[in-house]
Amino acid sequence: MIARNLSAVLNTLPEGVQLVAVSKFHPIEALQQAYDAGQRLFGESRVQELTEKRRHLPADIRWHFIGHLQTNKVRQLIGKVDMIESVDSDRLLRLIDKESAAAGVVTAVLLQVHVAAEETKFGFLPDELSEWFRSGGYTTLKATHICGLMAMASNTGDNERVRADFHAVAELMARIKAENPDLRGFDILSMGMSHDYPIAIAEGATHVRVGSAIFGERKY
Ligand SMILES: *Cc1c(COP(=O)(O)O)cnc(C)c1O
Repeated sequence: MIARNLSAVLNTLPEGVQLVAVSKFHPIEALQQAYDAGQRLFGESRVQELTEKRRHLPADIRWHFIGHLQTNKVRQLIGKVDMIESVDSDRLLRLIDKESAAAGVVTAVLLQVHVAAEETKFGFLPDELSEWFRSGGYTTLKATHICGLMAMASNTGDNERVRADFHAVAELMARIKAENPDLRGFDILSMGMSHDYPIAIAEGATHVRVGSAIFGERKY
């Protein structure tokens, strides 16, 4: 079933769009099935769950952390993930940089943008983020590579609102690029989940994070 779902999703992705298979709350056997079907990029949202799964699964899996990261858990994650997609504050970014430098690694990150209607979601506000770039906030990082932006759309059945949210993030990305021509390797736009990823792709997503459409509903 997982293999079939996976290939159904992959068949809908245009060339160049990467699939982050979001496996949070699903058991190791489920990830192994996706792995056996060829999937190598997985997304997890809790530090302990990610490190535990990583220990039991093949070493060529690339792990993306996609959940809210508490500062006291940063050290456990450094060196174990290919990307932290959910950097939602300057403070967290500085800490990732410090711990990465201490560990002698460079950590790839995305900055999470808050465009959704829900106040419970995390991230930089669009204006706050363009101001942060304009003030050169990124130039002092030593061991962190900012690869792009990540976002979630409003949780609504209103597709036009969802499209507008994704559009705002894509525009923000273009604006940041235009205003900071010295930014290098800033091209990843991670947006879209099971129910809205086709809209995200239409608005320019390079990575989609799809969970339940592959693994089924989560049991929390
Ligand atoms: C859980 C989660 C997803 C995947 O959601 P599905 O609806 O299961 O596809 C994507 N992104 C983030 C940040 C998540 O926490």
